[in-house]
Amino acid sequence: MSQIRALRGTKDIFGQDIKAWHRLEETVRLLCDDFGFNEIRTPVFEFTNLFQRGVGETTDIVQKEMYTFIDKGKNNITLKPEGTAPTVRAYLEHKMYADAQPTKLYYMTPAFRYEKPQAGRQRQFHQFGIEMFGSESPTADAEVIAIASTLLDRLGIKKVDLHINSLGGPECRTKYNETLSKFLQEHKGGLCNLCQERMEINPLRVLDCKNPNCSQIVEDAPTVLECLGEECQAHFDKLQELLTQMNIPFIIDPAIVRGLDYYTRTVFEFISNDIGSQGTVCGGGRYDKLVEEVGGEPTPAVGFGAGIERLLLVQEAENGPFQDKIERDIFIGAIGEKAILKAHSIVHELRKEGISAEADHMNRSVRAQMKHANRIGAKYSTIIGDNEIEIGETDLKNMDTGDVTKVSLSNLPNEFKKISK
Ligand code: ATP
Ligand code: MG
Repeated sequence: MSQIRALRGTKDIFGQDIKAWHRLEETVRLLCDDFGFNEIRTPVFEFTNLFQRGVGETTDIVQKEMYTFIDKGKNNITLKPEGTAPTVRAYLEHKMYADAQPTKLYYMTPAFRYEKPQAGRQRQFHQFGIEMFGSESPTADAEVIAIASTLLDRLGIKKVDLHINSLGGPECRTKYNETLSKFLQEHKGGLCNLCQERMEINPLRVLDCKNPNCSQIVEDAPTVLECLGEECQAHFDKLQELLTQMNIPFIIDPAIVRGLDYYTRTVFEFISNDIGSQGTVCGGGRYDKLVEEVGGEPTPAVGFGAGIERLLLVQEAENGPFQDKIERDIFIGAIGEKAILKAHSIVHELRKEGISAEADHMNRSVRAQMKHANRIGAKYSTIIGDNEIEIGETDLKNMDTGDVTKVSLSNLPNEFKKISK
């Protein structure tokens, strides 16, 4: 029978890799706690129209990347391609707007997009994201950027640049769309087929195209910054002032427009030069129109999504592969039928007391058991047989120093705690 394999663009995470994930997840939890963000876990699937509205009909995600299916109840369902729209849905559904604002949430979640798998691009990947609802102040934008910047610091990632831009509000956008459309019309012949379509529906999307010809053309395009109204300009200026005071370096980059439709004013990306073309580890911005789009009252909001796989790739590129020593506190070797049973009951007592312990499951010889104790990094080991069971004592060996201590079998957890202090 042929062997069944995992789907393209999906990965099993285990061994050393899962240790690197645990460390990153732990870092994220402590970080969010310091910044006052609470975790939210939303379902893996939602009604498709949440993403159609919340991510935007003209985005690549909605147009070609979603895992959408009809379930047995004839519901049109989509596996979440990102974490923001579900968080907004939950914010409204649970009336979190009635609590003291702002509402500060974070998530770590798998996300699903039907894309061409390559380094840093999978079909199931994972995102860490934060969302802050209820404040239109640039201090909220600055806090959101600050948490991302602090995360990179704590992960030891240095070779990443923060690019910021402002897309303005609806009025600036309308003005900019006209200016940009005019420019794109003049260069239509050089654009890829997709962009020729995009420019009719949402000209901004053309700025995001990865086709080299298109990138070349849009380099000379007028920028949205030239079309910012007074209030949006003031908001953007304040953000820059805050970041400067926080000592967070940034580059103003009009090329940052983000792949999602819902952004207003601030948009930003943290980009690494270390992992090739999929260099954006974290992208976000302000989305003052999204809550309304999903059916709520107009509510300002700002947040980001960071790709966990990409964060790990950058971390490894800068600091080398994660190496975590495997370690166990104690290995109880055994000779004979009776001793095997005893060894496993002692191991159970030790584990109940929070001591990591192992005994043989493979019917190994004593020599092979000791070899195994070494392989699993046991800090202490002992071998028991009929004699040890009869006198109720055994020799516990410190595997580093070779020192041996007599310990009582009936009170091993306590004696072990004393010795290993
Ligand atoms: P890209 O331009 O790389 O396609 P995007 O604009 O689609 O990114 P977002 O929707 O903003 O990305 O998602 C936030 C983050 O999630 C990205 O910055 C990236 O780190 C990560 N990400 C997005 N798509 C994938 C994927 N298919 N595989 C792995 N990580 C991804
Ligand atoms: Mg994408």
